[in-house]
Amino acid sequence: MMAASSENNFKGTLLIDEPMAKHTSWRIGGVADKFYTPFDIDDLSLFISQLPETENIMFLGLGSNLLVRDKGIRGTVISLKGSLSEIETLDNNCLRVGAGASCAKLARYCHRNNLIGGEFFAGIPGLFGGALAMNAGAFGGETWPIVKSVITMDKQGVTRKRTAKEYEINYRSVKGHKDEWFISADVQFTSGDGTVAALRVKNLLDERAKTQPTGLPSCGSVFKNPENDYAARLIEACGLKGYKIGGAVISEKHANFIINSGNAKARDVEKLINFIQATVKKEKFVELHTEVKIVGEADNE
Ligand SMILES: Cc1cc2nc3c(=O)[nH]c(=O)nc-3n(C[C@H](O)[C@H](O)[C@H](O)COP(=O)(O)OP(=O)(O)OC[C@H]3O[C@@H](n4cnc5c(N)ncnc54)[C@H](O)[C@@H]3O)c2cc1C
Repeated sequence: MMAASSENNFKGTLLIDEPMAKHTSWRIGGVADKFYTPFDIDDLSLFISQLPETENIMFLGLGSNLLVRDKGIRGTVISLKGSLSEIETLDNNCLRVGAGASCAKLARYCHRNNLIGGEFFAGIPGLFGGALAMNAGAFGGETWPIVKSVITMDKQGVTRKRTAKEYEINYRSVKGHKDEWFISADVQFTSGDGTVAALRVKNLLDERAKTQPTGLPSCGSVFKNPENDYAARLIEACGLKGYKIGGAVISEKHANFIINSGNAKARDVEKLINFIQATVKKEKFVELHTEVKIVGEADNE
């Protein structure tokens, strides 16, 4: 349902009771009370600043690392898909990248402008803001080592520039400044041959397509790899490939992927996640931690 936002001078789009299944790569998730796509940064600032202080706010990229529970999200989801997506060339091989730019667009921009160091973004099916939040990485590259600074926005709609040093960065983990969200970042590349880089990435993506079920509804790797091992290897070694709960099934192609086989509920996926963790703990004595973010209210039927 679309709500009229013009009386408040908002230029973005406000949807009410928006099914999150439409906005996650798993195609799963109950409704968000409010779902706002800002027109631009000023509009976002205005919109956020008029929300009640206690409002639960969640920023959303392409939902490619997100499990939204079946009763959905109480509060407001800010979707950056189609918004804040500018990429600007600064001096010295540096780009200012909007949080709403897709990682694929950023990779293409680098190739076309002979910038090296951002090829790995071609392997991440999310927005740049999501990559910042996750410290996403692929093919040996990672987001934060090339970030110089970020612009954030807080609950009052106030923006701040912060250096990368102000965050604690680890494998798929970014800590610091709760209740501030990423609006853009200045990212440092080096100059080189963009065509050669693009070809190298194409080969890596072709290789990946052979080992991962990339065309099916999933969120990529569900679990982080434990130190010196692979979550997929451990899950496979427990004989769990193909194991199914409701509509959620462990991929036959890559054991760290859970596929929505058609009608999976978030509760099926969550039960399967718990089952995998318990089995790997019992049989291999390793604790697996989720990479995927789990949000929203459960339907405990
Ligand atoms: C087929 C497939 C393959 C994948 N391969 C990889 C891979 O190789 N490497 C890898 O790292 N990941 C991979 N992923 C996971 C996913 O693409 C990444 O984690 C990606 O960075 C998530 O981006 P997103 O825009 O979809 O974020 P979302 O899923 O929308 O959000 C993820 C988290 O980031 C937060 N967030 C989003 N935007 C912002 C913002 N602007 N400010 C603050 N917080 C924000 C959200 O609230 C949420 O907590 C894969 C996923 C799929 C489906």
